Amino acid sequence: MKVKVRIAPSPTGFLHIGTAQSALYNWLFAHKNGGEFHLRIEDTDKERSTKEYEQSILDALEWLGLKWDGKVVRQSENTAKYREVLEQLLSEGKVFYCHHTKDELEAERQAQEGEKVPPQHVCNHKDSEKGTTPGGIIRLAVTRDADSTVSFEDEIRGHIEFKTSLLGDFSIAKSLDEPLYNFAVVVDDADMEITHVIRGEDHISNTPKQILIYEALGLAVPKFAHLPLILGSDKSKLSKRHGNTAAIGYKKDYLPEAVINFLGTLSHTFSKEIMTKKEMIEEFEFSKVHKSGAVFDVKKLNWINSQWVKNLDPAIFWKIMNVIPGFSLSDDDTTLITERLERLSDAQEFSYFWKEPEYDKELLKWKKADLDKSIETLTEVKKIIDDFDFEKGKDGLRKVLDEFSVKVGDKGLVYWPFRVALTGREKSPDPVDIAFVLGKEKTLERVEKAARLSS
Ligand code: GLU
Repeated sequence: MKVKVRIAPSPTGFLHIGTAQSALYNWLFAHKNGGEFHLRIEDTDKERSTKEYEQSILDALEWLGLKWDGKVVRQSENTAKYREVLEQLLSEGKVFYCHHTKDELEAERQAQEGEKVPPQHVCNHKDSEKGTTPGGIIRLAVTRDADSTVSFEDEIRGHIEFKTSLLGDFSIAKSLDEPLYNFAVVVDDADMEITHVIRGEDHISNTPKQILIYEALGLAVPKFAHLPLILGSDKSKLSKRHGNTAAIGYKKDYLPEAVINFLGTLSHTFSKEIMTKKEMIEEFEFSKVHKSGAVFDVKKLNWINSQWVKNLDPAIFWKIMNVIPGFSLSDDDTTLITERLERLSDAQEFSYFWKEPEYDKELLKWKKADLDKSIETLTEVKKIIDDFDFEKGKDGLRKVLDEFSVKVGDKGLVYWPFRVALTGREKSPDPVDIAFVLGKEKTLERVEKAARLSS
């Protein structure tokens, strides 16, 4: 049987980073097994679902390179199917209309809470007709045999079992045209011939309900694999209060390969830290997926990104950065930036390569020495550079500047104002390297301008 998996995001928000991880694991499993990876948009919540969110979910998956097979399935296009299945189940007496009102159900829930028993509704009046009474939601008639259980073998967690008697006659639709999550998922997964449902562990409690719906429909139950959640620093499920949870929000700072690498290695043991998607396919196994949640460690993400940036083809790097249309540095010079970059937006820290730096003249001051001292050495540095033949190479210039530093008696007093003159920053690669990227003329201009600032 061909492996078919899916992710089923709701377009009520951006693609959550946790769903992006589920998408990756589904995608890896599908590719490992020569199967298919599908995308289903769960847009039955008409009030909260939007086309914009749907588009942003598609964009995020494309950005991450998690291409789905076939067409996008939308639950909103399946309403006739849900109705048909509900009518069939009603006629078979497997589901029924419940006429209890919201107030009655709420009173029951509160009483159960008081008695510390799990909330559930067992209906004493199962009706196959909607009738005219208020309420009228549709529930599954669940066996109440005290010993009966519903269980499954989770591909990651092993045997999981629930007591059927604790589930009550749970609701599956608000009306024939308003299916609820558990019911719609089962109808769709069966329709799409999904073989493995791979999703977050927050859905474990839904699984017994879904299995009972499969059984009521006389359908084969797929295999389930519940992934650990991504956690915030306080070990609770990653949410907006921990920071950015939208996968697409990472686009401005990270390469998609790095995000995929990070999400992949976060909850699955691989043989090394830097992994391509292709390498992950080879090694992916449910047995290597962790059982407990992992904390989202942005430092780790930054490090992984820095490794990917370092190995990026310089032409691609400049295309992604697009700092000034057409601007780029030679391949060698590009490494001055790519060797030091963790987040893409940090490239702005190197903007002195493509635009004049702006800074306060006080920055030219070296430690406790006064500004005049810096200007004095800077004026000498200008002369040194003026006399220096750039053809002789960086080491030659470094040698002359070092000799001058010995004379001055403080290396910082030479290199600090030189660095600031070229970059306008406290931190940068070696100013001699920068001078050779800028070239003699621009270097002289900047040093001269700095020396003039003090007057
Ligand atoms: N719409 C559900 C969610 O986003 C789908 C869960 C599932 O994969 O069954 O959580």
